[in-house]
Amino acid sequence: MRILRGIPASPGTALAGVHHVARELPVVVRAELPAADLDREVERLHGALTTARAQIQALVARLSADLGPEGAAILESHLLILEDELIVDRAVALVREQSCNAEAAFHDAVAEVAARLLETEDGYLRERVQDLRDVEDRVLRALMGLGSGRLVGPATPSVVAADDLAPSDTAAIGARNVLAFALGAGSRTSHVAILARSLGIPAVVGLGDAVAELRDGDLVAVDGDRGEVVLQPDGETVARFRQLSQQQLTVNAKLDHLRDLPATTPDGRRLGMLVNIEMPVEVEKALACGAEGVGLLRTEYIYFQRQTIPTEAQQLEIYAEIMRGMAGRPVVFRTLDVGGDKVQRYLGARKESNPFLGWRGIRFLLANRPLLKAQLRAIYRAAAGGPARLMFPMITGVEELREARDVCRECVAELAAEGLPHDPDLEVGIMIETPAAALVADLLAAECDFFSFGTNDLVQYTLAMDRLNSRVAYLYQPVHPAVLRLLRDATAAAHAAGIRAGICGEMASETRYAEVLLGLGLDDVSVHAAQLPKIKQVVRWTPVAEAQGLLADLLTRRTAAEADRLLADYLAEKKRRRAEAAGPEVPDGA
Ligand code: PEP
Ligand code: MG
Repeated sequence: MRILRGIPASPGTALAGVHHVARELPVVVRAELPAADLDREVERLHGALTTARAQIQALVARLSADLGPEGAAILESHLLILEDELIVDRAVALVREQSCNAEAAFHDAVAEVAARLLETEDGYLRERVQDLRDVEDRVLRALMGLGSGRLVGPATPSVVAADDLAPSDTAAIGARNVLAFALGAGSRTSHVAILARSLGIPAVVGLGDAVAELRDGDLVAVDGDRGEVVLQPDGETVARFRQLSQQQLTVNAKLDHLRDLPATTPDGRRLGMLVNIEMPVEVEKALACGAEGVGLLRTEYIYFQRQTIPTEAQQLEIYAEIMRGMAGRPVVFRTLDVGGDKVQRYLGARKESNPFLGWRGIRFLLANRPLLKAQLRAIYRAAAGGPARLMFPMITGVEELREARDVCRECVAELAAEGLPHDPDLEVGIMIETPAAALVADLLAAECDFFSFGTNDLVQYTLAMDRLNSRVAYLYQPVHPAVLRLLRDATAAAHAAGIRAGICGEMASETRYAEVLLGLGLDDVSVHAAQLPKIKQVVRWTPVAEAQGLLADLLTRRTAAEADRLLADYLAEKKRRRAEAAGPEVPDGA
């Protein structure tokens, strides 16, 4: 038995075999060919280049239609690689000179060019190696008659292990048969962690190189609460994990009665209980957990699940399905928040040295009008079927909000002229997830209908801690005085302007912060469905005055560690009091 320690990213436990996923390049086997076969080999190479060209051209065509030439640029550069004499002529020469197969020749020709690019000082040229490898992968697959090379999920219930999973990989793998995730990279707020929590799948991330020890088929026990992965668990550990899953079922059953009750404090304040979702399939679970609406629909996954940009009609279908599922409850559609770790090649995003400070969220949207307009039109049209709301990500100031609202007006005018059903008055809100937005919250509040705190990014940008870097994951400190002050002041600014303020970052899904959010005076919280009953239970037990007192005390602390200790002491004391009163068990922290 061996215990690997990482970062607890999504609660719960699992006991199952490992399904290790890795993006593997096709393996090139070198073969020596008789001279008589070389012409045919060169032909085979040209055939594969033609197949690759056709695949890329089809993608470019679809992309240009949706995004304009800028969006298709990256794939057009792939077409140029296919025509690059340095590669193609060299590969043909290698087939003839070395009497080798086309796979080996093409691989060697690409490797020579890549080596030269890697030697240059120019960072942009070095980055092109990534594109070369992409094209090599495509041509080799065509030569070998292999499929597209997308990652596949497990066929039987398993623990999915990987070095890292990009959001598009997670979308490709899906949730089917995934009992837990064990990943080498990542932190609590990386998107795979968020997705895992939203789907209620236990996850441990930041395991580092140790994840390579998890081999296909090995039995492992994953503890998403403690951040541990037990390799080859002994009999006692197996028994303990079986018991833990049984206990989880019992706790869930106990919380079941809360489903139709409001999150009202003993002194009568009601907190809106919303959920974060990514896909229509999550609606059923959200309602089963008592969701009063969707506080954050991350639309990225709708884009990442496919190879090309979803059209307005395709988006409308998905959005309308969600609205129908939520049966009259409000749904907040967040416009595409691509960038950071959420990159998708077909969107034309390039690798950047500081992706979280780069072409992300609203910046990307405003630079890609056709894409933004298609999404906005789909949302306005979906709003004809129920109370939809619109929310923009990564706002840093009033200019971006105004520009985005101008595009909204343009869409509404078009829809009206086309006579298409839509709701011209849907509420438009913004994420408060940059310190700049929090600091000018009063100015922003005057020009929008609601705020939602994105604490994953707000903590990242305020404390200058990369949310994907496991080494600085310890700096994810939602009760750091800097974060608490921003939350307090921006909430006050919203209320002074008469608009609502909610939260949809991970902080809301962690039960240990529920009283803090209540003390802040937020109007609603948007959480992972599985966490909703626990948060509701805490709200129903906590008088507002008590939460306000706790927040006031936290705000007097000079360090995050002191604030954290104060919170831990408060929660321990509360648990003790409840145990004394012989009430139902206080749920543990998330
Ligand atoms: C956030 O930043 O807190 C948030 C909810 O957005 P995302 O995690 O999608 O960046
Ligand atoms: Mg964010």
